[in-house]
Amino acid sequence: MRRNPYYLLFRDLLGGLLITLKTLFRKPVTVEYPRERVKVYPSFRGRHALVRDPETGDARCVACLKCVQVCPSRCIDVKYEIDEKTGARIMTQYNIEALRCIYCGYCEEVCPVGAIVLTEYFEYSVRTREEAFFDKEKLLKNWDEFIAKYTEKVYTNKFWNLKGIPDVLKPAPKRKQLEVPVKRG
Ligand code: SF4
Ligand code: SF4
Repeated sequence: MRRNPYYLLFRDLLGGLLITLKTLFRKPVTVEYPRERVKVYPSFRGRHALVRDPETGDARCVACLKCVQVCPSRCIDVKYEIDEKTGARIMTQYNIEALRCIYCGYCEEVCPVGAIVLTEYFEYSVRTREEAFFDKEKLLKNWDEFIAKYTEKVYTNKFWNLKGIPDVLKPAPKRKQLEVPVKRG
């Protein structure tokens, strides 16, 4: 039997209108950003920062170069000097090309001293490539800006204590979570 072509047209049209009608009364899944904001979960991978040690006031980095080796984008570059007295490495330059970063979080996961993090700060944009090149000073400034708005008393990053990894397999500082006390001005 041959159906009237208008039948199909009206069936589909009515079906579509019914879906629209139902959706009108549902709670929207989107938000009106920036007036409304969604909660950013701990361990969200946003803007890079070098953790400023509250005791020394400088970066925690010990120039082990693990982050450089693990970074799949090859966008981290670290330079260091050797302390003549102690033989320890002293980080002198730390650079990240943020435009090449894929925000995998491997750098913060592998760092034995919790020195590099991807903060929960995501509202940043740049106008030039140079602005997306973060050097040591910029990375420390990123940390200061992030922590100034941090509401908890202590900062810990979820990547510093991943579930499922036995304590004995973690580097010594990671066995006791590398907490950063948040000082208020
Ligand atoms: S998040 Fe991944 S890609 Fe980005 S700097 Fe760290 S290791 Fe490299
Ligand atoms: S892994 Fe951590 S301590 Fe080692 S070079 Fe990278 S930031 Fe510095």
